[in-house]
Amino acid sequence: TALVRDGSTAEDAGALYLDAGQPVESRVADLLGRMTLADKIGQMTQAERVKVAGDPHLVTEWRLGSVLSGGGSVPDPNTPQAWVDMINSLQRAALATPLRIPLLYGIDAVHGNGNVHGSTVFPHNVGLGAGRDPRLVEQVYQATAREMLATGIRWDFAPCVCVSRDERWGRAFESFGEDPALAGRLGGAAVDGLQKNGVIATVKHYAGDGDTEYGTGDSDYAIDQGVTVTSRADFDRVDLAPYVSAVTEHGVRSVMPSYSSVDWTEDGTGNPVKMHADRELITGKLKGDLGFDGFVITDWEGIHQLPSTDPDGTPEPTPSQVRAGVGAGIDMFMEPHTAPRFQEVLEAEVDAGRIGTDRIDDAVRRILAVKFRLGLFENPYATLGDVRGTEHRALARTAAARSQVLLKNSGDVLPLAADAKIYVAGRNADDIGNQAGGWTIDWQGRNGDIIPGATILDGIREVAPGATVTYSADASAPVGGSDVGVVVVGETPYAEGFGDVGSATWTRGTEEQKEPKSLTLRPADRAVVSKVCGAVAECVVLIVSGRPQVISDQLGEIDALVASWLPGSEGGGVADVLFGRRPFTGRLPMSWPDSVKQVPVNVGDRGYEPLFPYGWGLRTMASPDARDAAQEKAAGGRAPDGWQQRFAEAQLAEESGDTAKATTLWTRLAN
Ligand code: BGC
Repeated sequence: TALVRDGSTAEDAGALYLDAGQPVESRVADLLGRMTLADKIGQMTQAERVKVAGDPHLVTEWRLGSVLSGGGSVPDPNTPQAWVDMINSLQRAALATPLRIPLLYGIDAVHGNGNVHGSTVFPHNVGLGAGRDPRLVEQVYQATAREMLATGIRWDFAPCVCVSRDERWGRAFESFGEDPALAGRLGGAAVDGLQKNGVIATVKHYAGDGDTEYGTGDSDYAIDQGVTVTSRADFDRVDLAPYVSAVTEHGVRSVMPSYSSVDWTEDGTGNPVKMHADRELITGKLKGDLGFDGFVITDWEGIHQLPSTDPDGTPEPTPSQVRAGVGAGIDMFMEPHTAPRFQEVLEAEVDAGRIGTDRIDDAVRRILAVKFRLGLFENPYATLGDVRGTEHRALARTAAARSQVLLKNSGDVLPLAADAKIYVAGRNADDIGNQAGGWTIDWQGRNGDIIPGATILDGIREVAPGATVTYSADASAPVGGSDVGVVVVGETPYAEGFGDVGSATWTRGTEEQKEPKSLTLRPADRAVVSKVCGAVAECVVLIVSGRPQVISDQLGEIDALVASWLPGSEGGGVADVLFGRRPFTGRLPMSWPDSVKQVPVNVGDRGYEPLFPYGWGLRTMASPDARDAAQEKAAGGRAPDGWQQRFAEAQLAEESGDTAKATTLWTRLAN
């Protein structure tokens, strides 16, 4: 066979596990029986690209089962060909091990394969959540899978099926929204989009990452990696639900535990266990109750955060950390820079009998089964394919259009006339890095011209060639003579560690990356809004951001307000809805707070009075229905107190398929 390398013995050339005609279970059992402890530990180890790409023989020496690119870890040049060459050279090294077990390469392709320059960059999950369309989500993740395969990558650390319950969470944009059923439905579609197209999906971060308490812990990562204080029932209902569907209905093949932990005391007085050491939730719940038969991969150095009982100064991961992680039921360990250390410790612990060989075999069996099912033994090598083809760009444009949520539209300012005189302002109007957000080329993302594609300004020029467009990022150019202002403001990219409103800063990177991230618009953005809206007859404001931005005090100055989220590389989709080429159909996947004090705000909360409730979204199309009528009444300030809760409940009813109930509720609100 193609796999027989020079020097292979007659015996292993005819080995059962190499026979694709055999059932997976038999292949796994046969291969496992031939493996030494070192082979097994190798399969349980994942190292980072930077450690091995320059030295592929390390893959052979360490018998690595997997290699990853962390955010921003890209070959130079960052071209599809360079990725294919790199992955093939690592694969050659893996196939040079005695048993020739192929390597599985993993990456965070969380909104398209955004690390690879030239890929199609789709809206982040929060925007897909606004789109509410499982079919569209499946297509987006299918396109992502195709573009990953085109560069040789077969494992995606996505989708995040996190349920974001606190707007301050810096990873809110990675979530499909605050409702567990929505996250489950769209997360399941994403899993299918990847796995039906030859890429292993990972649901993350198991579980409760989006539901951690603000202010627990003392680092900027506190809210990313902190504590979920909840009851068993709420945890099951809110945090666990999307995993149940990913595992039992969509057969997801890998799960990544969260850096966070759960405190069941409800009053926050417990002594919670980090998820990476949570045997009950990983082995008991996930592998036991839910019957998960794929494998569990740690998050980046996830076990290094576990409390260590070894002497101070013991290098990480320490023996107690390794025991806790393996014992909890983790199968593969993301040890980007410490793979040999991890291996040495694990081997010593097994040799000393402190970690049972059954647990090791269980881990390896799971990993091998996934590799066999993927066809990796038969097709280990990558072949270059197309990225960012016309079809994928069109799909990304559609997804961007569908993700736009029209929050306010007084006097039907939108859609704009194709021959309008338009004054475009705001720094997010013409910055593709900002509209792509985190996990694009860089881990934290970056502002500026970092990927090919169209900015929102490019889109406006393309969609309305007959319009007169003046652009001034800071609104310093004179405004006179324009009919309408389009101001695009909001956030600059970030990924992890930006939970702390107004105080978290990133100390590396560009000036914009170092800016404090917060839920209120920056003073410069606010000034541009006021300046433009004060000078034109009609003023449209677009907020490009990964989460809601508090804007209540400026709402009166604004005629039309749009939540654009992080639309990705095809800004034309945003322009399409602005000019009515496509209708606005997006609905809020997260409640939009009235003030920072109100945060966190979620449907079902007592005294739920956000500025815009979950599910809000005006439409620019004919034949209005009960929902439109309810929204019109609320937008006109004529809805009764507490209408937000009823509106959002109607939305949830509709999403669960109970259209009759939804219509009744909306009709009541409208009358
Ligand atoms: C993130 C994960 C990601 C991993 C690998 C971690 O810091 O929390 O979501 O998959 O890095 O890049």
